[in-house]
Amino acid sequence: MTMPAVTAEWQCLRCGATNRKLVGAGTRETVDRCVTCGTRHVLSPDVRPVRWKARLK
Ligand SMILES: [Zn+2]
Repeated sequence: MTMPAVTAEWQCLRCGATNRKLVGAGTRETVDRCVTCGTRHVLSPDVRPVRWKARLK
Protein backbone atom coordinates (compact mmCIF):
# COMPACT_ATOMS: atom_id res chain seq x y z
CA MET A 1 0.00 0.00 0.00
CA THR A 2 1.43 3.33 -1.01
CA MET A 3 1.28 6.23 1.40
CA PRO A 4 -0.98 9.07 0.24
CA ALA A 5 1.01 12.16 -0.57
CA VAL A 6 0.20 15.84 -0.31
CA THR A 7 1.82 18.83 -1.96
CA ALA A 8 3.55 21.20 0.41
CA GLU A 9 3.79 24.60 -1.22
CA TRP A 10 6.03 27.11 0.49
CA GLN A 11 7.65 30.45 -0.20
CA CYS A 12 11.36 31.00 0.16
CA LEU A 13 12.15 33.59 2.84
CA ARG A 14 15.34 34.66 1.10
CA CYS A 15 14.42 35.04 -2.57
CA GLY A 16 10.63 34.78 -2.54
CA ALA A 17 10.43 31.86 -4.96
CA THR A 18 7.54 29.46 -4.57
CA ASN A 19 8.58 25.86 -4.09
CA ARG A 20 6.65 22.63 -3.96
CA LYS A 21 7.52 19.36 -2.31
CA LEU A 22 5.60 16.13 -2.26
CA VAL A 23 5.37 14.75 1.27
CA GLY A 24 3.52 11.90 2.91
CA ALA A 25 0.08 12.71 4.30
CA GLY A 26 0.29 13.43 8.02
CA THR A 27 3.78 14.88 7.84
CA ARG A 28 4.26 17.43 10.64
CA GLU A 29 7.63 18.79 9.61
CA THR A 30 9.95 18.42 6.68
CA VAL A 31 13.05 20.04 5.25
CA ASP A 32 13.34 21.32 1.71
CA ARG A 33 15.76 23.38 -0.30
CA CYS A 34 14.75 26.33 -2.45
CA VAL A 35 15.14 25.42 -6.12
CA THR A 36 16.18 28.97 -6.96
CA CYS A 37 18.71 29.96 -4.29
CA GLY A 38 19.39 26.65 -2.53
CA THR A 39 18.53 27.88 0.98
CA ARG A 40 17.31 25.14 3.29
CA HIS A 41 14.01 25.71 5.10
CA VAL A 42 12.06 23.80 7.71
CA LEU A 43 8.44 23.40 6.63
CA SER A 44 5.38 22.76 8.74
CA PRO A 45 1.70 22.60 7.76
CA ASP A 46 -0.40 25.73 8.18
CA VAL A 47 -4.14 26.06 8.63
CA ARG A 48 -4.53 25.91 4.89
CA PRO A 49 -3.47 22.46 3.78
CA VAL A 50 -1.50 23.39 0.69
CA ARG A 51 0.49 26.46 1.73
CA TRP A 52 3.04 25.49 4.33
CA LYS A 53 4.90 27.70 6.78
CA ALA A 54 8.61 28.03 6.08
CA ARG A 55 11.38 29.07 8.40
CA LEU A 56 15.09 29.23 7.83
CA LYS A 57 16.98 26.17 8.96
ZN1 LIG B 1 15.11 30.95 -2.49
